[in-house]
Amino acid sequence: MDQLVRVIAKDAPVKAMAISGTALVERARQIHSTWPVATAALGRLLMAASMMGDMLKEENGSVTLRLKGDGPLGTVLAVSDSRGNVRGYVQNPAVDVPRKAPGKLDVGTAVGPGGSLTVIKDLGLKEPYVGSIQLVGGEIAEDVAAYFVESEQIPTACALGVLIAPDQSVQTAGGYLIQLLPGADDAVITAIEQGIARVGAVSAQLDRGLGPEQLLREVLSGFDLEVLDTAPVEYRCYCSRERVSRALVSMGQGELRALIQEQGEAELTCQFCDKVYHFSREELEGLLQDATS
Ligand SMILES: [Zn+2]
Repeated sequence: MDQLVRVIAKDAPVKAMAISGTALVERARQIHSTWPVATAALGRLLMAASMMGDMLKEENGSVTLRLKGDGPLGTVLAVSDSRGNVRGYVQNPAVDVPRKAPGKLDVGTAVGPGGSLTVIKDLGLKEPYVGSIQLVGGEIAEDVAAYFVESEQIPTACALGVLIAPDQSVQTAGGYLIQLLPGADDAVITAIEQGIARVGAVSAQLDRGLGPEQLLREVLSGFDLEVLDTAPVEYRCYCSRERVSRALVSMGQGELRALIQEQGEAELTCQFCDKVYHFSREELEGLLQDATS
């Protein structure tokens, strides 16, 4: 089962979290029929969103990461609830680009290199918080770290990895976020940088059998870590017939009437989970009544 782990260092101003996301990334691949480089890009963004969603204090909050690169994948979008359960999609799931090296997917080229990463935090207030940065390469982990540094002024290191099996399914997926709290000195920064370099690619470590907590204990091996929280996470869509009905009503009378006249019935597909909602003429006319009243 996929898992999120949050830790804090007892002997330094450092907090961190890690995720194992093999099942949720595989679920995304199956829903969207993504090709390997699209699976990797969407998977990385989903896991980043999951960790950022879990950081929210608000019970009903959500975080949306919108990666709008100028590469062939188009827009990649991931949404997390406040417990780290995620959903998402990629505009062009059937994309292939030359590998950087045998077995090394070139996510940066598929995403960008140019474009933007926008973070939308809905905290249940009137206006959501929105922060946006220019991509720093489109490999996603570096872009997420740059977002935290530029938009939230929090020194952050991020690693995300998705390993694709020969049959194109997801073999392992995971990542971590490490953040400095006020007061971290150069010795702390150096120790973290050395840990990151020593551990290397996250997907290889997970493939070796490491869980998210062990991953953090390897990267932050010089620190005395305390686990604050461990929680299961999954791919979860919140669509429902009521939500789709509300969306139809919000189209307004004119649009609804045109839909009934032109098509008689409607079939709407959820962009996150591909569930199809069918509306008969009678049902649409009922919604038209709702839109009118
Ligand atoms: Zn759905």
